[in-house]
Amino acid sequence: MLTISKLNKFYDKTHVLKDVDLSVAQGEVVAIIGPSGSGKSTLLRCINLLEKPESGTLTIDDLTVDVAKISTKQENALRQQTGMVFQHYNLFKNKTALQNITEGLIIGKKMPKAEADAIGLNLLEKVGLREKADSYPAMLSGGQQQRVAIARSLAVKPKVILLDEPTSALDPELVQEVLQVIRSIIDHQTTILLVTHEMSFARDIADRIIFMADGAIVEDGEPEQIFTRPQHQRTQRFLLSYQ
Ligand code: ATP
Ligand code: MG
Repeated sequence: MLTISKLNKFYDKTHVLKDVDLSVAQGEVVAIIGPSGSGKSTLLRCINLLEKPESGTLTIDDLTVDVAKISTKQENALRQQTGMVFQHYNLFKNKTALQNITEGLIIGKKMPKAEADAIGLNLLEKVGLREKADSYPAMLSGGQQQRVAIARSLAVKPKVILLDEPTSALDPELVQEVLQVIRSIIDHQTTILLVTHEMSFARDIADRIIFMADGAIVEDGEPEQIFTRPQHQRTQRFLLSYQ
């Protein structure tokens, strides 16, 4: 269970998240859509505290933190519950695919290398890249790099996976393989928040769609409802731009 309550984020004087409330059940797959600049990335970055919100509370399972008074210990505990996948993969360039995945286990979780390698190879297998274990990011296609990044986000078994436009930097012919991998990681245990412009994919895989505009959640509902009967004019206008 992930709960966000009255979350506010400012960049200087710009109010980019405005009293955002959101509750997501464990294992739920939520797609976040909305115009550029509406705060989608900021919301994901605030959930794993890459950005520090000014006020609000965040809850993941039995851990609730008041972001205004968060301790380093709470920050680390919360961050450990989340895995993040970025638009531009963000792999370590000087580490192999396998090392990118095992880094968090060996350094973060102090796991013995052999054990971490076994987990890493297993995850590479899962994303169809077992044979690329020793390849460096520069030797991989964008789609392959993103699949490694997805495997990396799963390594520490986070409760929540945050994916921020994972396919939007890819050449069109590489999009499907990454969408396929995202589809394959849905296990109904791990909560998934996916920011995407891939509307048909969102409609297909998500349990729920959230439409954001101007730093707020404007509409929240089942895919069928949002895509066929959007209630708000902003949602209607936004979806029309995809037709
Ligand atoms: P996109 O679809 O283009 O990725 P988004 O919905 O993810 O957009 P955000 O990146 O969350 O939007 O940005 C929300 C608002 O915050 C925008 O007005 C943006 O200009 C501003 N913003 C984002 N990051 C920063 C930053 N590091 N410093 C200052 N302003 C920022
Ligand atoms: Mg964004």
